[in-house]
Amino acid sequence: MLQVEPLIFELSKPGRRGVSVPECDVPEQEIPSELCREQLPLPEVSEIDVVRHFTRLSQFNHAVDINFYPLGSCTMKYNPKINEVLARLPGFAAIHPLQDPRTVQGILALMYRLQNYLAEIAGFDAVSLQPAAGAHGELTGILIARAYFDSIGDHGRTTVLIPDSAHGTNPATAAMAGYKVVEVKSDARGNVDLDELRRLAGPDTAALMITNPNTLGLWDEHIDEIVAIIHGVGGLVYNDGANFNALLGIAKPGELGVDIMHFNLHKTFSTPHGGGGPGSGAVGVKAHLAKFLPGPIVVRHEGSDPEYTWEWPAASIGKIHGFHGNVGMHVRAYTYIRMNGADGLRQVSEDAVLAANYLMARLRERYDVAYDRPCMHEFVLSATRQKQHGVRAMDIAKRLLDFGLHPPTVYFPLIVPEALMIEPTETESLETLNAFVDAMLQIADEAEHNPELVQHAPHRTFYKRLDEVRANRELNLRWEPQTREAVAASS
Ligand SMILES: *Cc1c(COP(=O)(O)O)cnc(C)c1O
Repeated sequence: MLQVEPLIFELSKPGRRGVSVPECDVPEQEIPSELCREQLPLPEVSEIDVVRHFTRLSQFNHAVDINFYPLGSCTMKYNPKINEVLARLPGFAAIHPLQDPRTVQGILALMYRLQNYLAEIAGFDAVSLQPAAGAHGELTGILIARAYFDSIGDHGRTTVLIPDSAHGTNPATAAMAGYKVVEVKSDARGNVDLDELRRLAGPDTAALMITNPNTLGLWDEHIDEIVAIIHGVGGLVYNDGANFNALLGIAKPGELGVDIMHFNLHKTFSTPHGGGGPGSGAVGVKAHLAKFLPGPIVVRHEGSDPEYTWEWPAASIGKIHGFHGNVGMHVRAYTYIRMNGADGLRQVSEDAVLAANYLMARLRERYDVAYDRPCMHEFVLSATRQKQHGVRAMDIAKRLLDFGLHPPTVYFPLIVPEALMIEPTETESLETLNAFVDAMLQIADEAEHNPELVQHAPHRTFYKRLDEVRANRELNLRWEPQTREAVAASS
């Protein structure tokens, strides 16, 4: 385990350089003074200092390229390197969104196909690739619902129904779009409570935002009735597609009656995420909503020149992203779909569901299972047994770091006390899954016989337990450079 203590940030020494610029062989130009800053105290460091600094920092973090990353609801599957190779091809990476479509037919063809693949895989009629994340896709979808009701002159729909197991982005989205959020309780099997739904749904219901499989990792056993209830009162069904990794090639939400759904390309379709990097929250809709999609959208005119062009849907809600979305993610997702093919995608979901059920079966002896029935691609344990010994879900999460494993999602969904939400994904070997089980079983033993060991974990990481509340409240992510004078004075 690497130890560099203390972690030194002040590496600057006057006169050190990482690059040397060759002598200018063209006439020098004045740079407009409004583009120049007088005071710009950049660190003066050599190339090797920079490489070592950032490599060292990268090793203080966990990553899916290091070990298991079962962060529930986040689908931290392995991101195949072939995606990166393709996304870096100059024909994709070095083009500009304002180029004449005639000069970028390749990327337009790729985006057009990706729109169609996503529509086909999930059972929709039209897709926009513009949204930059799942939450952004949700907002797009709910704005489409609002535009739809406005267009038919139905102005009395003021509420969005959201199950109590939903991700926090769902109520945030509905509120941002101007709707009142009404929570729907889950029943004892983790489904939406049908009686409650019937009671709450009415002429004021704009939409139900459902996640299926839900964040408990459970397929809603009454999805047909749910869709019928909402459509019966004239509302729309929005499916949060973050859990689509359970369904590829198995079920199509569009065919189940869902009107709108977002995809998280950065979850299901293996584009990298975490650390605030770019995502892609493509949105699919049924035919009656296609004209409201954000624009422009790639369309194809076979036999024409150019074949692929940008067009605005007739009643578009407008742009929700500068230009066309995170196009590099489109290339990666497209590559992933083509590399797997239809059979491969089905296998992805089957293996993801199998891995989750395997882990649940092996862990249930020592941990309480929140809802006792076969799961989809993830499942939720409750650390209530361990809590009797003073060990909480957070302690178990921290202890897992000592085994070199990323913890599961903790304390979500909110309806499960001491929740540990585990999503292994399909990309892990049996050996890796077993290593996780061994660690979890050992921690269950420790919770009983040596709870302090777990309570004070992690013991082997560079940083120990952080004050997460303070880190959130007083977010301080920026290193402030010292002035040149201060550096000079200290050296
Ligand atoms: C990840 C997730 C979201 C939000 O997606 P982002 O891409 O993180 O904005 C919404 N709902 C569920 C269930 C999720 O897991």
